[in-house]
Amino acid sequence: MKRSLISLCAGVLAASLLIPATAGAEPEVEPATGTELAGKTVFLDPGHQGSSEGHDLSRQVDDGRGGTKDCQTSGMTTIGGVPEHTITWNVTQLVRSGLETLGADVVLSRADDTGWGGCIDERAAAANASGADLAVSIHADSTDAAGDPSKHGFHMIVPALPIPNPAADAAQSGPGLEASTMMRDAYLGAGFTPANYAGVVDGIQTRSDVAGPALTEVPLVFVEMGNGSHPDDAARLESTDGQLDHAIAVTTGIVTYLLTGGQASAAPAAPGTTEPGATVPGTTEPGTVSPGPVTPDENPLSLESILAMLSDLLAAGGLTGLEEIVNSETIGMLSDLAGELLATVLAQLE
Ligand SMILES: [Zn+2]
Repeated sequence: MKRSLISLCAGVLAASLLIPATAGAEPEVEPATGTELAGKTVFLDPGHQGSSEGHDLSRQVDDGRGGTKDCQTSGMTTIGGVPEHTITWNVTQLVRSGLETLGADVVLSRADDTGWGGCIDERAAAANASGADLAVSIHADSTDAAGDPSKHGFHMIVPALPIPNPAADAAQSGPGLEASTMMRDAYLGAGFTPANYAGVVDGIQTRSDVAGPALTEVPLVFVEMGNGSHPDDAARLESTDGQLDHAIAVTTGIVTYLLTGGQASAAPAAPGTTEPGATVPGTTEPGTVSPGPVTPDENPLSLESILAMLSDLLAAGGLTGLEEIVNSETIGMLSDLAGELLATVLAQLE
């Protein structure tokens, strides 16, 4: 990718963003300054790993609820044959670049999509050690390797409460739930459909058998982006532009929480200072997190218009589509553009 094309894209993009998306919208938009998220740290956990060679996936580790669980799983493969670990890795790279464009520090749970990525307890420990303002585990689901046209949609996994570890309980009952709700709303706002299966209610699934949230002492969002067994969900998960859709939704949820969340923040309890089940000072009462979905038209620039804009810009640069040009060299540029777009969307929401 030549710098001149990047400059062209950035220039046309900036001009495009001056056009009001809706009647009455504020026409003057401040470009991203790169400091919006300064001082914020985000821990990103792309689910699973490139390879488990030399490691025992079934080694038992702490499940956070007094039992044990397999170290890790291999993850699903979409009906189109794309492994979950690669989808989550690609989406994570886009999200990372977008967040870094806005000034955040990003810590990853694994270094690449070729090697081992650590057991679930080790990833939770890494999230805790990072001191992140928010951790996000990125996954995609499957229901039937042979294909399943009946079950589709995204969901956020939240832990059944209370969690025995008081610090994890404090983090997930207050800010974690708030962030998960904001991520759900970002997905709805981007036009994604909540899952119609697995007991998901309004895009949120409550579970006691997922170890990550029960071991994580910073607020955590656990995203299941879609069902790789469903033809439409799989197509979107597999394609580069679909991965960009997901990355923009995930980034929007993160940025929204970092800039507007935290009203429900619970003071983190030091591990071991509170008996399991005891009241943790500062824990927010249930009910302060709005369960209702956002109104889609709150967002003046729709995801469709953003993506159309990106595609037009790339075409203007002599490229025929996202698929053709996205590689390890160009993915950062696309993310920078996404970061600019996100900043603009947020500016219009204020
Ligand atoms: Zn997964």
